[in-house]
Amino acid sequence: MSEIVYLNGEFMPLEDAKIPVLDRGFIFGDGVYEVIPVYSRHPFRLAEHLVRFERSHQAIRIPNPLTDAEWTRLVQDLVARNAGEDQSVYLQVTRGVAKRDHAFPKNVKPTVFGMSNPLSTPAGETVDGGIHAITTIDYRWLRCDVKSTSLLANCLLRQVAADADALEVVMFRDGFLTEGSSSNVFVVKNGVILATPKNNLVLPGITYDVVVELARANSLPIDVRPISEAEVRSADEIWVTSSTKEVLAVTTLNETAVGTGKPGAVFRRMHQLYQDYKRTVMRQAA
Ligand code: PLP
Repeated sequence: MSEIVYLNGEFMPLEDAKIPVLDRGFIFGDGVYEVIPVYSRHPFRLAEHLVRFERSHQAIRIPNPLTDAEWTRLVQDLVARNAGEDQSVYLQVTRGVAKRDHAFPKNVKPTVFGMSNPLSTPAGETVDGGIHAITTIDYRWLRCDVKSTSLLANCLLRQVAADADALEVVMFRDGFLTEGSSSNVFVVKNGVILATPKNNLVLPGITYDVVVELARANSLPIDVRPISEAEVRSADEIWVTSSTKEVLAVTTLNETAVGTGKPGAVFRRMHQLYQDYKRTVMRQAA
């Protein structure tokens, strides 16, 4: 596939994009990233993704190398140069190339990389049938709110799910729900949607925000508060959300049915609201 990517100011075929081995992204995972879904060639919630990207830069003390207007232009250019109406744009900034030393190097230029891949939204049978997930301890660091490229723990945890033929992990820290390896997790109990508070233990998901907003705008009862492990294990419904998964129901947790074992009524309502919202936003952007 002749994918066109962006590296440090230039567009080029993927196979021509090369970075020096001393790039701190390669050596230390010293970087931040974003993944932006694009529907019908329109980026979804781009402004919110760029706010989070800026926050990630500040958190790890890399000066954001591009302005929001420049990032927006870059995203538009990547979308225009790549095939497919629906795409998933990936942006990454690392601290740059320097002799290996943990402390920050002086006067280095951040490495800027961008690519776009076809976005396949979840298949109908995944939406209708739900997914399998398994529970794990969350052993990541204490800055999970930063969208950092240091994703070793997330990869190890996702592999635990993959080894069990599950799509995602549902993680607990100190007896409370945090999130998945690459998604936020919601719970429904007695008709009330429960959402984890945004703090240093979870990534502030852009999809999470959409779901919370849609619940409030449509008078669906929602409570944002710490959720105990026991509440998750006895939930009527569990959902995972992310830019690429959108909203999916977890119907089996550790091989035990969640609720009826089918996506629940509140999930179906939220999924419909999400699809309607997407369509409205895209119509306005067209
Ligand atoms: N939590 C983690 C750890 C993630 O990696 C992601 C996305 O990749 C999310 C949550 C969901 O975030 P978003 O809805 O912005 O895609």
